[in-house]
Amino acid sequence: MNTFERLESEVRGYCRSFPAVFSSAKGAWMTDTEGRRHLDFFCGAGVLNYGHNPDPIKQALLGYLMRDGITHTLDMYSEAKQRFIERFDQVILQPRGLRYKFQFPGPTGTNAVEAALKLARKVTGREQVVGFTNAFHGMTLGALAVTGNGFKRAGAGVPLGHSASVPFDGYLGADTDTLDYFEALLKDSGSGMDMPAAVIVETVQAEGGVNVASAEWLQRLRRITAEHGIVLIVDDIQVGCGRTGRFFSFEEAGIVPDIVTLSKSLSGYGLPLALVLIRPELDQWAPGEHNGTFRGHCPAFVTATAALQFWETDALARSVQHKGRVVEQRLRAMAQRWAPGAQVRGRGLIWGIEFADGTLAGRVSQACFERGLVIETAGIDDQVLKLLPSLTLTEAELAHGLDVIEDSLRAVLGQPAPQHPEAAAVAA
Ligand SMILES: *Cc1c(COP(=O)(O)O)cnc(C)c1O
Repeated sequence: MNTFERLESEVRGYCRSFPAVFSSAKGAWMTDTEGRRHLDFFCGAGVLNYGHNPDPIKQALLGYLMRDGITHTLDMYSEAKQRFIERFDQVILQPRGLRYKFQFPGPTGTNAVEAALKLARKVTGREQVVGFTNAFHGMTLGALAVTGNGFKRAGAGVPLGHSASVPFDGYLGADTDTLDYFEALLKDSGSGMDMPAAVIVETVQAEGGVNVASAEWLQRLRRITAEHGIVLIVDDIQVGCGRTGRFFSFEEAGIVPDIVTLSKSLSGYGLPLALVLIRPELDQWAPGEHNGTFRGHCPAFVTATAALQFWETDALARSVQHKGRVVEQRLRAMAQRWAPGAQVRGRGLIWGIEFADGTLAGRVSQACFERGLVIETAGIDDQVLKLLPSLTLTEAELAHGLDVIEDSLRAVLGQPAPQHPEAAAVAA
C-alpha cells in the first residue's frame, strides 16, 4: 500500500484513474517519478489553459517573489491587485465593451459561485435560484444546490433547497426548445415555481458531459431573465479564459451576463484565484458583508496579470479556433470509423465524444493513460470522453494526442465498426 492509500482519505478521486506520482511538468507534458512522460489532455479540468509552467508567467512570478513582493494582504489594497484590475479592465473588458465591478471571493470556483448566488438573492430579495440539468457549479452547499449530479448532491447530507433545476439546451431532444418550458413556468402563477433571484448557466456544460448551448438559446435566456428581473449568472469557471476560442465563452452569443464567475485558468499558472464580475448596479454589498481570508492572493494576481499578455492580440484565439476545427474533424472521422452513432460535441478546445456504449469512454481513457495520454471522462455516467488540451500546445502535440485516442479506440474495440450494413454482411 502506498502512502496515499494508507493515509490519504478515500475521497481522493482522479488519482484512481491516473495512478502516477507526478513530479514536474512543462507545456503540454507532465513527468512522473518514474520518468514517464504524459501528454496532458486534461489540464487540471481547465486550470492550465496556457500549459504547465509557461515561461513568461513563471518569470513574472519569480521576479515578484525575489523582490519580496507582498504575498498576503487579506483584501487590503496591493500593487499586485491594482495592476491586475487595471490590466484586466484594459485588455479584456474595455475592448469587449463590458463594464463590471470586481469581487475577489475565496480562491476556488465554488467560492465565486456562492458569492454570486448570495448577491443575486440580496439584490432581488428572492430566495430561489435556478440551475440546469447536468450543471456543475461546485461542492459547497449553495453551489451544490444548483448542481445536477445526484451522487454529489447526496454528499451534502442536508436538503439542498431554495433551488430548482430546469432542462438545459438539448435535454429534451434536438426538436424541443427547453426555454419554452422555463418561460411558461415563469409566466404562470399556477406553475408552482417561485420567481427566481438568479439563473446560473454554463454555456458549455463541461463536467456534465460537454453539452453545448446554442447561441440562440443563450440569447433567449438573456431576454427571458431580463424581462423578469432575474439575475443571469454565467459560470465561466471552466470554459472561460479562452477555452472556447474567445476569452469569455458567452462572447460568441453576444450576450452580456449580469454576473460572471471565473476561476480555474484565471491565474494562468495553477495558482488559486477566483473572480466575480458584477454589473455595477448590482454591486450592493455592504463593506465586509462577504469576506474570507484568501481573497485575491498576490502571487496569483501577478501570474494572472502576466497571463493577460496572451489576450493582447487575437493570435491565441485564432489558434484555438483553428485547433478546434482539427479536433472536430478527427473526432468525427474516428466516430464514423470506430463507433458509428457516437456524438461529437464541443467548441474551441473543449470537445466530447459520447459513445452509444456508456462504458467505452472510461475504457478508452484508461487505454490512453497506458499510452501516455491523460484524458478524462465526463457526464453523469462518465459516458463522454472529454478533450481538454492546453490552448498553447503545438499542432504536432495535438495530432499526437489524437493519434493516441485513435490507437486506444482500436485497442479497446479490436477492429473498426463496419461502415455500412452491406459491408457487415460481406464481412460475415
Ligand atoms: C470547477 C468548476 C466549479 C468549481 O470550482 P472549484 O474550484 O472546484 O470550487 C464551478 N463551476 C464550474 C463550471 C466548474 O467547472
